[in-house]
Parts: sequence; C-alpha cells; structure tokens
Amino acid sequence: MPELPEVETTVRGLARYLYGARLRRVEPRREGLRRPFPADLVQVLTGAQVTGLGRRAKYGLIETDRGQTMVFHLGMSGRWRIEPEELGKHDHLLLETESGLVLALCDPRRFGSVDLVETAQLDHWPAFAALGPEPLGNGLSPAHLKQALAGRSAPIKLMLLDQRIVAGLGNIYVCEALFRAGIDPRKAAGRVSGAALARLVPEIKAVIAEAIEAGGSTLRDFAQPDGELGYFSKKFDVYDRHDQPCTRCGAPIRRLPQGGRSTWYCGKCQK
Ligand SMILES: [Zn+2]
Repeated sequence: MPELPEVETTVRGLARYLYGARLRRVEPRREGLRRPFPADLVQVLTGAQVTGLGRRAKYGLIETDRGQTMVFHLGMSGRWRIEPEELGKHDHLLLETESGLVLALCDPRRFGSVDLVETAQLDHWPAFAALGPEPLGNGLSPAHLKQALAGRSAPIKLMLLDQRIVAGLGNIYVCEALFRAGIDPRKAAGRVSGAALARLVPEIKAVIAEAIEAGGSTLRDFAQPDGELGYFSKKFDVYDRHDQPCTRCGAPIRRLPQGGRSTWYCGKCQK
C-alpha cells in the first residue's frame, strides 16, 4: 500500500512530465475507482495546463490553470505508468500531453480516487479540512503533539495514526519512529513525557525523509518508457520483523495487534 513517501515520490516523478505541460487528451477508461470519476473531468482537464504538482497527506495534487486541481489517491495498489507500451485492463485513466506523452493511472484493486477540487478551496475540501499538520512541516512539533495528546488515554501508536493529529503518517513509519525514539507503542498517549515527544518528532521527520530519499534515488528508473511511479523497497528496524533480532539490543521483535493492525516493537528498547 502506498504510504506518504511513495505518494511524494510519485508526485515528484509526475512533475518531470507534467509541470507546465498542456493536456490534450483525458480519457477515463471506466466509470471510476472507489467512486465515480467527476462528471466534468474530461471537460475541465482537456486543454488545461498543469501549473503545479503537490501532495497533502497521501493525496497527490495536479493543479491546473482552470482554477481546479485534480486530487488523486492511490488507494491500496495505485500507480502511474509512464508511456505504457501496452495498455492493460487496470489502466483506468489516461492523460496525454501536447507533446504526446501518455500517463496511465493503473489501479488493479480500485481503492484509489480521482476528484476535481477548486484550487482556492483545497484546504476546505472535506478530506483535507480536518487534517493535522504534515509530518515534514513546521506544524509538527513537540508542542503540537503535547497539546494534541494531552489527557488522551489511547495508546500513542494509535494516536499517531489519527490523521487529525498528524497527516499522512502510516503504520510503517509510526512503528519505526516509536522504535527510534524508544517509546512503548502501548503507552497512553497523554502520559508520554515531553522529553520523549521531543525525541519522537525528529524521528518521525527522519524516517519519512529517509524513505522519500530512497524513493527519489529510484526515480531515474522511471525515465524510461514503461516506467512506473510509486514503489520502492526500504529497510526497517521493526516493521514486519516479528521474532527477528532487534537491531539495537538483539532481543526478538514483538508483534502486537492494535486497532486492527499489527504493531512491531522491541520490548527492551521501548519504554
Ligand atoms: Zn531492542
């Protein structure tokens, strides 16, 4: 499943092809993904110039000179294919630039989405209105977490997955950041000390930044025809390492179900 670093990598990759480009063809090849494509998608985007690319939480933003932004989500399995040599049955939306470059949004499981939102109203779009600060921005600080978590008895792990507290943070990066900061994922969020939060915030930023860097270093592979944007392999200290030795102390990594998902942690290093 694409997480924030994959979406960021995808957006940076798309920018190489789309920034400043005019779209000459916009072709939905089915009715939609998780929900129908906007009825005016073709009308609004055909002939539009792409004036900016960006990301909010796990959504990619393709801003146009029509005052509207195409907002996409990759769901569980979405990716953009660059100049596909052959179109497949999972290529559900095509964008073609004036120079003839074709980009295909491929999403086998169709949990993704495409929406058009007025650019000036993006912050008020329902999916964005309640989002907390971006993990890499200045808004995520120890003071923000201290205030957002005050009095909360839910485990810190689950609170960090709450998009209203931090936007776009997924299971992998929460597990990794808590390990690096030495914080027990089961601890009541409101009882995590200020000192621990001061350790946690830079680790959240670091795990995300490192993953984006790893994704960025794979971007050159997409420059060729039939390249795909969005997925790369990474190494983790605890994520998906049940029973394997802790990279710091050698104790076996534990797995614990929390909120319907697994948490991996070291019982010795995380207090
Ligand atoms: Zn350990």
